[in-house]
Amino acid sequence: MTWDAVVVGGGPAGSAAAALLAGDGWRVLVIDRAQFPRRKACAECINPAGVDALRRLGVLGRVMAAGPARLDGWRIASDGGPSFLGRFPGEVHGIALPRETLDAILLDHARDAGATVRTGIRVTELLRDDDGRVRGVVAGGEEVAGRIVVGADGLRSIVLRRLGLLARAPRLRKLALTGHVRGVPEMHGCGTVRARGRGCVGVAHVGGGLANVTVVVPGEQAREVGGQAEAYFDAALRECGFMDAERVDGVLATGPFDCPVRSAVADGALLVGDAAGYYDPFTGQGIYRALRGAELAAQAIGVALRAGDTSAAALMPYERARRRAFVPGERLQHVVEAFVSRPRLLRWAAGRLDRRPRLADAVIHAAGDVRPVRSLLRPALIAQLVV
Ligand SMILES: Cc1cc2nc3c(=O)[nH]c(=O)nc-3n(C[C@H](O)[C@H](O)[C@H](O)COP(=O)(O)OP(=O)(O)OC[C@H]3O[C@@H](n4cnc5c(N)ncnc54)[C@H](O)[C@@H]3O)c2cc1C
Repeated sequence: MTWDAVVVGGGPAGSAAAALLAGDGWRVLVIDRAQFPRRKACAECINPAGVDALRRLGVLGRVMAAGPARLDGWRIASDGGPSFLGRFPGEVHGIALPRETLDAILLDHARDAGATVRTGIRVTELLRDDDGRVRGVVAGGEEVAGRIVVGADGLRSIVLRRLGLLARAPRLRKLALTGHVRGVPEMHGCGTVRARGRGCVGVAHVGGGLANVTVVVPGEQAREVGGQAEAYFDAALRECGFMDAERVDGVLATGPFDCPVRSAVADGALLVGDAAGYYDPFTGQGIYRALRGAELAAQAIGVALRAGDTSAAALMPYERARRRAFVPGERLQHVVEAFVSRPRLLRWAAGRLDRRPRLADAVIHAAGDVRPVRSLLRPALIAQLVV
């Protein structure tokens, strides 16, 4: 049979796209190489815009029933210098919960909406017509035909690579080590990121008495980690003063992060989530972008399927909408990285933001997708930073 849509990857982007398309009556197949529930290297914080996207998807109730921690803002500390706190406005908040829980809920939601889900099967190739148009995938050695292939297969997307749409090799060489820890003191509803040289340590409670700790190591120090990710992670925990903290699972390692794409559409295929381009996890916008990108993709795919035209040209409205939605946030990520990779600059900025709480809030609102990035360009705010 030919599916209307074959979705490669059942993370937040793939599950959300599949749920929306199946809910509209399309025949959708999701293929994921993992068996769920599965862990995913992530700091596991969903920003307020991501919470809204879960609500629109109709799955927020199930996610809240899983007991996530509430996230009211972030404290950002420079290395050995000042720190600042930015809070989300009023009742607006994010949440944090383990990805094995979140992603399993989202994949179940896709199933309930009518999508067929096959797990434990790896996609290895794209199928193409004589004219080069994508017409399906090879999954577990078998050909699977689809009117459109949705590449939602994350940071190392096989769909992206086979489409030849990767713009260049990664330049941001960082390694992230992630684990769950018990015994981290209460942080008044806020996550913390502490700079550590040119890297950082992020800590956020994720419910059930657990905290997610993510240690980001700059590329030039990655050799120090060697094959000893767990020992390095545990030492970083002690360095942060968490003497009584106890790691409850293995450490996941991932990197590098910078993965720009030339375009997220091709004849017969479309990319969504991390597969559609990725920079740095520091600002914690990835899950929101996966969910919002899935909404934009499902809209464009529905129009293309109805018109019987899934060419790159027909899918261009998605490419344009995606750029409008995400390019300002990507620029902000580059600015944030410029500060994080220069410890003296970060110390200076943290001191300023500590003394100017409205400016600190504005930065956290933009990074949390609560307000558009352009809200930071108001002359009054810029003056607060500079004067
Ligand atoms: C260290 C780190 C910390 C982060 N912290 C945050 C944070 O706090 N908040 C936030 O919002 N974002 C964060 N992110 C980003 C976030 O994790 C991603 O943006 C998000 O997971 C993207 O979702 P996705 O569905 O596109 O991809 P993924 O969640 O990666 O899902 C891709 C799926 O595709 C499957 N797959 C891959 N290849 C194949 C294949 N060949 N065949 C079949 N299946 C395949 C995988 O098994 C996986 O299930 C962080 C990322 C990192 C690396």
